Amino acid sequence: MACVKADGYGHGIVTVAQAVAGNVDAYAVACIEEALRLRDAGIAAPVLLLEGPHGSDEIDEAYARDLSLCISDPRHLDWLAAADPGRRPECWLKIDTGMHRLGIAPALAACCYARLRALLNGVPPVICTHFASADNPDPTATRAQLASFDAATSALAAPHSCANSAAIIAFPDSHRDWVRPGYMLYGGSPFADRSATDLSLRPAMAFSAEIISVREVAAGEGVGYGARWRAARPSRIATVAAGYGDGYPRHAGDGTPVRIGAVRSPLAGRVSMDMMTVDVTDNPAAVVGARAELWGSDPGVDEVAACAGTIGYELLAAMPARVPRLTIDASVGADRCSAPRPSVD
Ligand SMILES: *Cc1c(COP(=O)(O)O)cnc(C)c1O
Repeated sequence: MACVKADGYGHGIVTVAQAVAGNVDAYAVACIEEALRLRDAGIAAPVLLLEGPHGSDEIDEAYARDLSLCISDPRHLDWLAAADPGRRPECWLKIDTGMHRLGIAPALAACCYARLRALLNGVPPVICTHFASADNPDPTATRAQLASFDAATSALAAPHSCANSAAIIAFPDSHRDWVRPGYMLYGGSPFADRSATDLSLRPAMAFSAEIISVREVAAGEGVGYGARWRAARPSRIATVAAGYGDGYPRHAGDGTPVRIGAVRSPLAGRVSMDMMTVDVTDNPAAVVGARAELWGSDPGVDEVAACAGTIGYELLAAMPARVPRLTIDASVGADRCSAPRPSVD
């Protein structure tokens, strides 16, 4: 099940869904608005709403558009019970094994499972949970969540789903029947201490912008708002036409790598809304009209995120609509997947 919430982690939900169609059995989104974008684009594969229904009205709408709901609260069962028995959508059942965000308590798993199964005319729901710390090198918390899940569900006949990207990589025994990769699909590393390259993941997104001005600044001059960066020597500064209004993080520190040609040059000065400034004194490739590679294969989005005190997930998910998207190859390369791949629809 491909997680394509948050506009396909900023890549474009429909583009991503079409690119991986044939390699996945279903899609996961956060909410009904995202699911409807898939349906309106003609995507017919199963779609699961990870947040479940936000209100009883979404039970009917989910049924009408053939969407699956993650049932995570006894109230959801009441809403289902109130719906026409012939018009109940497919459902999963989420157990809260320690994330404490969504899901029913393990002690209620058996009774909620029985009630849900009855409401679904005997069809067993997939039972799922979500890990809080699968990216932590210390496996203790995830082991405890998995043990709680197994204890609560061992007597219930149903498929299981537990693993996000980090657990897919670090906890193979959590794979069960459905895995739910998100960030790794886009080529990012879910771990702070292991790079995407270490994990043989390749980025789906390359984010670049044009250099629109290059100037010389004298030693001692400040660059950008608040003159955060000051030239320690006579310097060449390139102005790149992307800023925080384009999804580049304003909190990126001086020195954050920006690649121009083969050379990485350091960000110099605060990122502004539409532009950023880069110290290209040692980078002869930095001329007006050249492209600055902000993230992609080098530097990786995880590295840029670390320079801004955040994670690559946030940078991808915050990619704003104003950035023009160019889809270079919307198919998943045959070398990247072992399964035979039907053509993209
Ligand atoms: C977002 C999400 C995932 C995917 O997480 P990644 O870390 O991006 O792989 C899986 N399951 C649930 C419930 C989620 O909300």
